Amino acid sequence: MKKHNFSAGPSILPASVMKKASEAVIDFNGLGLSLIEISHRSKEFIAVMERAQDLALELTGLKGKGYKALFLQGGASSQFLMAAYNLLENKAGYINTGAWSNKAIKEAKLFGEVVEVASSKDQNFNYIPKGDEIPADLDYLHITTNNTIFGTQFQEIPETNVPLIADMSSDIFSRVIDYSKFDLFYAGAQKNMGPSGTTLIIVKEEILGKVNRTIPSMMDYQVHLKSDSMFNTPPVFPIYTSMLTLEWLQENGGLAGIEKHNKEKAALIYNEIDRNSAFVGFAAKEDRSFMNATFNLAEGIDGTAFDNLWNEAGISGLKGHRSVGGYRASIYNALPIESAQLLVEVMQKFEKTL
Ligand SMILES: *Cc1c(COP(=O)(O)O)cnc(C)c1O
Repeated sequence: MKKHNFSAGPSILPASVMKKASEAVIDFNGLGLSLIEISHRSKEFIAVMERAQDLALELTGLKGKGYKALFLQGGASSQFLMAAYNLLENKAGYINTGAWSNKAIKEAKLFGEVVEVASSKDQNFNYIPKGDEIPADLDYLHITTNNTIFGTQFQEIPETNVPLIADMSSDIFSRVIDYSKFDLFYAGAQKNMGPSGTTLIIVKEEILGKVNRTIPSMMDYQVHLKSDSMFNTPPVFPIYTSMLTLEWLQENGGLAGIEKHNKEKAALIYNEIDRNSAFVGFAAKEDRSFMNATFNLAEGIDGTAFDNLWNEAGISGLKGHRSVGGYRASIYNALPIESAQLLVEVMQKFEKTL
């Protein structure tokens, strides 16, 4: 029986995508060959790459607006340094909203001065810091739009006159936002797109080529752009699967459709967290993530019975990250509403045992 998968990442993908992706591993488009045994320079794979890039730009509303999409290797973690390598000449600003921001800051410091423009470290990152003046002399400002571990999310994109860069690994394509406010954003595939192994980067071309340093080829966005993400062998299977997920998104109402679906799931779960006497939410209400709902047991409550109940119900991946404890329900795009409803039922059942 398929479990109700609340994993934070790698995470659930649409069932139809899984089916098509697995079929392509055996026989891709009736070629008599597997997707993973043909040349990445074959016309069949080039069509996949172009379609994936095109869909990424189309869904974010950035097609024809000076942006390009890249599918590279190395995960979001490589983007922490690659973004700085390509864009940090003197000084960059970072909003520190937790573990992933911290890692990005650490890498950027290898390339120039880093200013922590704002931070929510004082309260174990349970909120999104606001109202801070963004200095005008930054090469760029970097934010993490959704904080996968802590369950917070920028509900408003900061206004700034400097280029805006974002790690969107865990909320890309999950809601309607004005993507044109960003000059570069990136996301590891494994939260909302496909298996791990590829990273989507969307970049406004005009911001590149401005730093005075030699950039190694594999770290240079311009090198990858020139060769259309095929400077070296791309991760063909994660890219193909991501393409299928983006097609699925487009067929299911695009970002507006998925936002409605995601907000319904999040509302069910947060309403129950707030109503149920056994639990307390972790993140500040106004900054709650629509992708990762974090919650803890209320004081004095033993969670053993709850753990048994959700395991018996076929729920998987609910355990919170060690830095927050408690529970984390990751409710990415592909999670069906029935899974959220089941979790609510189990939470209610647990409360009745107390
Ligand atoms: C998962 C995650 C990462 C790490 O991605 P990798 O592809 O494993 O490097 C970075 N940032 C955020 C916000 C994440 O959720």
